[in-house]
Amino acid sequence: MTNSSESSGQPLCRFCDTPLHHTFIDLGMSPLCQTHITPAQLSHMEPFYPLLTYVCSQCYLVQLDEFVAPGDIFSEYAYFSSYSDSWVEHARRYVEMISERFSLGGSSRVVEIASNDGYLLQHFVKKGIPCLGVEPAANIAEAALARGIESVVTFFGERTAMDIAKKYGHANLLLGNNVLAHVPKLNDFVSGLKALLAPGGVITMEFPHLLQLMSENQFDTIYHEHFSYFSFMSVERVFAHHGITLFDVEELPTHGGSLRIYGRHADDESKPVGERVTQLRAKEQLAGLDRLDTYGGFCEQVKETKRKLLDFLIQAKRAGKSVVGYGAPGKGNTLLNYCGIRQDFLDYTVDRNPYKQGKFTPGTHIPIFGPEKIRETKPDYLLLLPWNLREEIMQQMGFIREWGGQFVVPIPETKVYL
Ligand SMILES: [Zn+2]
Repeated sequence: MTNSSESSGQPLCRFCDTPLHHTFIDLGMSPLCQTHITPAQLSHMEPFYPLLTYVCSQCYLVQLDEFVAPGDIFSEYAYFSSYSDSWVEHARRYVEMISERFSLGGSSRVVEIASNDGYLLQHFVKKGIPCLGVEPAANIAEAALARGIESVVTFFGERTAMDIAKKYGHANLLLGNNVLAHVPKLNDFVSGLKALLAPGGVITMEFPHLLQLMSENQFDTIYHEHFSYFSFMSVERVFAHHGITLFDVEELPTHGGSLRIYGRHADDESKPVGERVTQLRAKEQLAGLDRLDTYGGFCEQVKETKRKLLDFLIQAKRAGKSVVGYGAPGKGNTLLNYCGIRQDFLDYTVDRNPYKQGKFTPGTHIPIFGPEKIRETKPDYLLLLPWNLREEIMQQMGFIREWGGQFVVPIPETKVYL
């Protein structure tokens, strides 16, 4: 724990330093979601950490206490963005939209934080717009370089922002998808964004929306690598504190429901605050996100979601059916560990990412194969762990219907699709 008050040991809000006394959800002990186990490691000890989230009574930021050093988590991260077709397509559409809306061209500079394997920046390269990636995992930055995308291997913060600005210039567009929530030092990160942004420049950030997490039971998106869970109200407050005004926001279907926020320097009056900002604030107020008691009711919802999934699995196994998993994503790790699902329920899971094949899921030790295993074993049920990619996977794996196979989606509640 790095952010706790010295006298009481009570963790403090990573934004406003208020002691955190209100539990949002306690998912028990869980291993890191990207530490897939090799066959040789099966007989070794495995570290488990508390998966306990709080809500701050002052700023309503939902957050995980920090038990694990970020260097342990991200230095060899196994998530390659390019393995999801729909995510690459989402990135391509974003690049088209944003280049046109803010007239980006050959004299602009685009910087992406957590640029991964270049899945997004490759589209700017094709348009001749200069860009730079910032990526903490060296093995992933190498994959970007192979695509011709220059990447700085570092964690982003105020200091690295100033170094990048000095060496490469300020950013006219500064973007980050699914990084803000993963940042342990939130204030340092956002103040870095402010430092790297050119006058008149635009920041866009995408992250899962807390309102969706709560209304759709997406508790499995809580894992150790994911430190903050933002409503629009809470993120707006954080950015305003660092001199950035959010002038627009979009609600997106990605990752089960995300926000894309648009920020600019507070004194840049060329971009007035739009109607979508006012509307979303009103929607969150209506849902009660500005009241502490709203957050307290989430626990019971999560327990019921677990009971429904176990009900289904127990009945399926009693009926002699075979059940296997699809995917080995971070959210699958939370779900499997919290629900106690091991090979007693799931024979195996499959993943398109060769990095995970031949390994085992963290904590639950379910073997991970390539997708061709499904055709060989013809299971009765395929449990989709990355339920946010449901449509894409059901299309790719539609052939399981040839032998009467069915799809099972665990979130927001267990549902079988013929
Ligand atoms: Zn706070």
